[in-house]
Amino acid sequence: ADAVAAMLERLEADRIKFIRLQFSDLQGQPKNVAIPAIQAEKALTDGISFDGSSIEGFARIEESDMVLKPDISTYTILPWRKGESNVARFICDVYRPNGKPFEGDPRYVLKKVCAEAAEMGYTFNTGPELEFFLFKMIDGRPSTEFQDVGGYFDLAPTDLAENVRRDIVLALTDMGFEIEASHHEVAESQHEIDFKYADALKTADNVVTFKFATKTIALINGLHATFMAKPIFGINGSGMHTNCSLFKDGKNAFYDPEAPLQLSETALNFIGGVLKHVRGITRIANPTINSYKRLVPGYEAPVYISWSASNRTALCRVPAPRGNSTRVELRSPDPTCNPYLTFAAILAAGMDGVKNGIAPPPSADRNIFHLSDEERKAAGIDTLPGTLMESNAALLGDELLCSTLGSHVVENLDRIAMMEWDAFRTMIHPWEVEQYLSKF
Ligand code: ADP
Ligand code: MG
Ligand code: MG
Ligand code: MG
Ligand code: MG
Repeated sequence: ADAVAAMLERLEADRIKFIRLQFSDLQGQPKNVAIPAIQAEKALTDGISFDGSSIEGFARIEESDMVLKPDISTYTILPWRKGESNVARFICDVYRPNGKPFEGDPRYVLKKVCAEAAEMGYTFNTGPELEFFLFKMIDGRPSTEFQDVGGYFDLAPTDLAENVRRDIVLALTDMGFEIEASHHEVAESQHEIDFKYADALKTADNVVTFKFATKTIALINGLHATFMAKPIFGINGSGMHTNCSLFKDGKNAFYDPEAPLQLSETALNFIGGVLKHVRGITRIANPTINSYKRLVPGYEAPVYISWSASNRTALCRVPAPRGNSTRVELRSPDPTCNPYLTFAAILAAGMDGVKNGIAPPPSADRNIFHLSDEERKAAGIDTLPGTLMESNAALLGDELLCSTLGSHVVENLDRIAMMEWDAFRTMIHPWEVEQYLSKF
């Protein structure tokens, strides 16, 4: 009650006129409903009811009444709507009318896995690196035309996005982000903005905020920001490398100054668990048909299931910093993923490794892309799923991941994958026409 009273005062002081109650659907798309500030007390004490039947992956028609309860710690003002009166945003948890958490709420799934790790004393920290393209808007519609033809770390005038990137960084900073770096990425019109890691729940909230803030600021600048995994054939796609660590008693449990590579047993077992389950994780971390066009050789994206502390091409990389920065970087996720489910799946897999002492395979310290198929086979290096169908089957066959996500989520993910795959496989693509129209 004290927290509610303090929040109400804050809303008053910040001249908040509207409040956005935000949550995510199963695909990680942000959804929101706006309420006038006069409803704030009710929203903060009892929550606000809504009909979940039209939300992807939520409820069937007959049991669609849901309640949104704002998480007070997620309060922020939308910086691009600041003025005389302001708009506030809360990220909400989704409940059933009977007061039970809704098992299809991705935030709930992540909270549950984090709570299990917390029982063993662990906090799961994640630091994602989101890449995106800035394309031109043409006649009011997003296009795939480059805004600039800059490359990695380029400056103006080759990099035409300096001002947009600065605006994005300023908006995110206003919203409480600690930005670490921003730079032009390898591909034309591709960018990366990095923010400081935090516990997985806060970071998943941040990823959702990051994406819609970036899109909004781009649009204000007349551009379209896309997090699509591989918008253009022949150049790099966009990834969401996910840096992971477990902290215990305020210390990084992946760091052991006495061990080889200064990596603790916990870190090695975490890698062992992640690699064991990574084919199923791929369904979550790479959830679109298009995601698999990124996971091909030749564009810095991972393909082979391996880890290394020295080789940047490995799926699981251990970057050089040690001490509190000791971390494992999973390089497969792309920014179309639902960050809540992705972090939940990675943590569950990693904890399986920690609990059961799963040793990782020998590290692959040579560039695996330079090995022949035979050499890779001899080294026992498997590949990531090549399609959404393949990763979907891998998820359905992974008991640990299925029980982590719960049957509601798994059934809906399966339904969505089948639907998309059917739509895609029955479509006639330009490539087919080019290949076959004249030939046959
Ligand atoms: P890269 O060298 O792969 O390009 P970046 O510097 O772009 O890496 O991003 C590194 C990310 O890792 C940042 O988001 C940073 O906050 C995060 N990070 C640093 N230390 C940790 C840690 N202990 N746990 C999780 N993430 C971390
Ligand atoms: Mg980076
Ligand atoms: Mg990088
Ligand atoms: Mg990058
Ligand atoms: Mg990286």
